Amino acid sequence: GAASPMFADQASGSIFNPWNGKPYSQKFHRILDQRKTLPVWQHKEEILDALRKNQVLVLVGETGSGKTTQIPQFVLEMMTMTVAETTPGDDKRRKKMMVGCTQPRRVAAMSVSQRVAEEMDVTLGEEVGYTIRFEDKSGPKTVLNYLTDGMLLREATADPLLRSYSAIILDEAHERTVATDILFGLLKRVLRSRPDLKLVVMSATLEAEKFQGYFGGEAPLIKIPGRLHDVEVLYTAESQRDYVESAIRTVVQVHMCEGPGDVLLFLTGEEEIEDACRNIAKEIGNLVGGGQVVGPATIIPLYSTLPPALQQKVFEPAPGTRKIVVSTNIAETSLTIDGIVYVVDPGFVKRKVYDPRVGAESLQVTPISKASAEQRKGRAGRTAPGKCYRLYTEKSFDEDLQSQTDPEMVRSNLGTTFLTMKKLGIDDLVHFDYMDPPAPKTLERALEMLYYLGAMDDEGNLTKLGRIMSEFPLDPQTAKALIVSPQFNCSNEILSICAMLSVPNCFVRPPKGVARRKAAADEAKARFAHIEGDHLTLLNIYHAFKLNNEDPSWCYENFINYKAMKSADNVRQQLARIMSRYNLRMCSTEFGSRDYYVNIRKAILAGCFMQVAHLERSTGRYRTVRDNQAVHLHPSTCLDHNPQWVVYNECVVTSRSFIRTTTDIRGEWLLDIAPHFYEMENLPECEAKRVLKTLYKNRR
Ligand code: ADP
Ligand code: MG
Repeated sequence: GAASPMFADQASGSIFNPWNGKPYSQKFHRILDQRKTLPVWQHKEEILDALRKNQVLVLVGETGSGKTTQIPQFVLEMMTMTVAETTPGDDKRRKKMMVGCTQPRRVAAMSVSQRVAEEMDVTLGEEVGYTIRFEDKSGPKTVLNYLTDGMLLREATADPLLRSYSAIILDEAHERTVATDILFGLLKRVLRSRPDLKLVVMSATLEAEKFQGYFGGEAPLIKIPGRLHDVEVLYTAESQRDYVESAIRTVVQVHMCEGPGDVLLFLTGEEEIEDACRNIAKEIGNLVGGGQVVGPATIIPLYSTLPPALQQKVFEPAPGTRKIVVSTNIAETSLTIDGIVYVVDPGFVKRKVYDPRVGAESLQVTPISKASAEQRKGRAGRTAPGKCYRLYTEKSFDEDLQSQTDPEMVRSNLGTTFLTMKKLGIDDLVHFDYMDPPAPKTLERALEMLYYLGAMDDEGNLTKLGRIMSEFPLDPQTAKALIVSPQFNCSNEILSICAMLSVPNCFVRPPKGVARRKAAADEAKARFAHIEGDHLTLLNIYHAFKLNNEDPSWCYENFINYKAMKSADNVRQQLARIMSRYNLRMCSTEFGSRDYYVNIRKAILAGCFMQVAHLERSTGRYRTVRDNQAVHLHPSTCLDHNPQWVVYNECVVTSRSFIRTTTDIRGEWLLDIAPHFYEMENLPECEAKRVLKTLYKNRR
């Protein structure tokens, strides 16, 4: 039979890469030497031995010890040898030896796969790939794929036993995302029917014992000690009023006064990070201008919506300058940046918060947990002794911070997840083997939603509509709007709107403080604004983009994000393919017709009828119809009047509750389109109910 392929560590002498048969590049050996210094390499045999003897292995290792980049390669090597021994030369079996490694964050999947392709000296997208929502960079040759946990869950709906994989690695399990949690339950079942399948659970924290327990305590647990240097922790004497401002001050101070070493500042989101980067640059510039002796700095933002090429920048050395990385939580455990000596931790994170009483899921800036604070601190001590500046008091750390972050499962709207679970054949959603079960109220809300959308019948079975809905990588409400849009004769338009809703904000916001640019941007935005609402405004922008031949300079002149538009266009094509698979007709109402926009608004409502707010005459405020909660139109809205009824895409809670992406609708439509939901006994006592009652009466 064919000899087992030779691999990296044994193959130092070999000049050919077993994966693609090409000679190794120079770089390969240089990187290999680096890799061998990572702590996981010392445990390679121990890890593989445990995995040979057991089906499941739990691995805990300090961030940066090489788990994400190295372990999948080790496992791949082991699995390939096993397959090569049993089925010599059978190339068709290749597919079967695929190793899949999940990541909760898309950025991590993209960035790590690129790094690993480089390490294996192959082209990204061939032997090593990644799959994230709306983007599949893997192919027939792929033997190692990094994919988001959500994508693996989707794959399982088509391939319930995950037959294309010989091993699955659940990485960043401590993040406890909903998708990872469901995968745990699913894999527990799959492992029973597939004794050949291996599972490695990887985590950065000690919660790992919980994972071990989940698999009946049979899975061995291997701990990889990190190489942590001491990190000195400094607290503030008082709590800080404005954490961003305080963070910027601290970073500049560190840059001025501290010895060499890079800085990592944790902030909560794109806008905050971009602003902070500009302000740090400005302050450092002022110091230099003021004749102070300060060294050069390279300021690098890092957040998930950053284009991949820019994300890669954090890994590039910046010789002769101090690197200042301003990042979201991505840098807490998902990505390891070498050379960090100073960590500035304001103690906040943006995370999903779900209130089942109001049924709203929102991203909120909330205090981090103690476990997170410790992880952040650890980032400072990887290469040398470091310092961690906590911008809160020691008392606050001791008394105010929760010890662990709650699993996402207990703070999410589970509609999409339940749809996927149903599709996976999990019939009993209530008694599923959850690692931590969701709150009963949350369960109830999610089931109710699927029922009202017609995705589930009275017995809790998935309907035909539900099955189609689950095919779309959209939330159930949006999917429903798209599926019923042919009935409203506007599927072309709803498709464009869904695509636009699936990509990051398409408006370019000029930096704060540049008033002239800001005015120009507002003017540009106003040109696309549709008075009846934001969904229609998105449609206008999409149409204008296409009419202008997708011209990047047109985008630039109109303050439109070209990348976001291209990606919307791509998403649109993918959604269109799914529509044609289900024979959903592509159609439009004639543009000149008075019904053109009316039909679109109705179709949106047909999916999002649970997200409707009513303007209360008595107070001039909006209240959600379903729960009678006070909400405000988001400042970004294009609506220049206050319609009596609006349908909204999401509710975001910051200092107040805002409904974002809102469109004017008519009360009567609620009775026509969603009579089963707008039954009077369903609604809380409120003005909206009284108005609807009158509408009902007038019809009779
Ligand atoms: P862990 O998963 O245990 O946190 P990783 O496997 O992500 O560790 O990281 C191991 C090493 O690989 C780190 O030193 C990290 O800096 C390096 N590394 C990871 N991704 C890249 C990249 N894109 N470019 C350069 N180095 C990288
Ligand atoms: Mg990792």
